[in-house]
Amino acid sequence: MTTLILGGGISGLIAAWQLQKRGEEVELWEAHENVGGWVQTLPWPDAEGRSGYVERGPQGVLTTPGSAVDRLFKELDLEVRSPGHGVRWVGKGGALIPVPVGPVALLFSRLLNFSAKVRMMMEPFIALRPPEPEENLSAFVARRLGRGVAEDLLPAMVAGILAAPAEMLSVDALPKLRQWESTGSLFKGIRRSGSSELVVPKGGMGMLPKRLAERIPGVRRGLRAEGLELLNSGQWRVWGGGEVREIDRVLLALPAFEAAALLGSIALQSAEALAAMPYTSVRLRHSRHAPLTPLKDSFGFLVHPPEGQGFLGALVPSWIDPESAPDGLMQLRVFLGGAFGMDPSLTESDGVQRALKSWIPELGEPLQVREESAERAIPRPEMGHRRRLETALGGLPKGIDWVSNARFGPGVRDVIEGVEEWVLKY
Ligand SMILES: Cc1cc2nc3c(=O)[nH]c(=O)nc-3n(C[C@H](O)[C@H](O)[C@H](O)COP(=O)(O)OP(=O)(O)OC[C@H]3O[C@@H](n4cnc5c(N)ncnc54)[C@H](O)[C@@H]3O)c2cc1C
Repeated sequence: MTTLILGGGISGLIAAWQLQKRGEEVELWEAHENVGGWVQTLPWPDAEGRSGYVERGPQGVLTTPGSAVDRLFKELDLEVRSPGHGVRWVGKGGALIPVPVGPVALLFSRLLNFSAKVRMMMEPFIALRPPEPEENLSAFVARRLGRGVAEDLLPAMVAGILAAPAEMLSVDALPKLRQWESTGSLFKGIRRSGSSELVVPKGGMGMLPKRLAERIPGVRRGLRAEGLELLNSGQWRVWGGGEVREIDRVLLALPAFEAAALLGSIALQSAEALAAMPYTSVRLRHSRHAPLTPLKDSFGFLVHPPEGQGFLGALVPSWIDPESAPDGLMQLRVFLGGAFGMDPSLTESDGVQRALKSWIPELGEPLQVREESAERAIPRPEMGHRRRLETALGGLPKGIDWVSNARFGPGVRDVIEGVEEWVLKY
């Protein structure tokens, strides 16, 4: 049986890889000339032509030994490295406050008051709640870890992952939370899944889709699917870019709104549920500066919203992956906007630099700047997501399925693990 996979982002490529590994025929159509979707590493040389790069999406992926991500990197012979545990801060009350790395540091942390710390430590003794009705992300964290964590720590973390306010989202926006809770407590779940580390393939995150595409002969680039129809034979006809295929199974590895557009005429219920899944856009600003000691071993910082007024945080890609910046330069990446809106001052020519300097006064003027806008880049699983997902999947006709980060969770790790589990039932 042959499967035609539409979409060559990480969801589609992993699905193709998993199906191919078990001996199935696959063909994959990717609309763009480059595979990877958001996982692409884009060249960014400096004025002297020295090499460097920016990531279009993820700066790295979380993994634990023996996990699906770890196995995948080994299967693909991808050399990866980890920056280790750098300093991270939360920007709050005008100052950068270190994020504690262990229980002792947490005891002394200024991020939470004493009663919030005590309440958080009681998490293993909090009774479980039935999964229904669907809970809001902020309410889930308040129930398990206390209001202090939900109000003082969670908003910056969620803004850094989903660029949206926690109270707007369903707990299913971060599926790991309910998986961990199902073991009895979040602490137990986290302990069981092992401590994860951030890794980046040598050459950047884009090496992952590139290597997958090299090993999957059926990958076709620059081919956008434009329509789908069911034939009397029970097969599916798919067309786009002047090509037509008649095929047994079609896997939509697309953002929900793209899948909805293709399903509109053949599965209205699924199409409507998928079209109702909102996505968030963000702006990204990359800059290179003379190195600074406080950021030398740092991952970066996230700002406690709404304090940043749309300035969500800044990472230090040159620490995460030193090859991203030419020798002797420090590279920063600022996240702006998302579902928070943005103060107009951040759109002024030196607005972001001024905002950065308000957090890091020693920061020098940028030597190079590059701005990107990421439109409808991040799924926003608002309350009701669980029902929308059930409706979307339940209404799919025989021979059609859908995989995406809007189904499995926001990170590359969620997608790799989700697709690996999905393929077992396919
Ligand atoms: C700015 C940003 C930062 C991120 N940072 C992190 C991070 O640090 N860590 C982490 O784990 N995750 C991060 N992520 C999330 C991660 O990048 C995504 O979860 C993941 O890339 C989603 O992959 P996907 O294949 O589901 O979707 P996509 O990447 O959107 O891929 C879908 C693909 O389908 C193609 N396509 C669309 N329509 C058609 C059509 N009709 N026919 C054929 N092809 C089509 C598109 O061109 C695209 O290549 C980040 C995302 C963004 C945007």
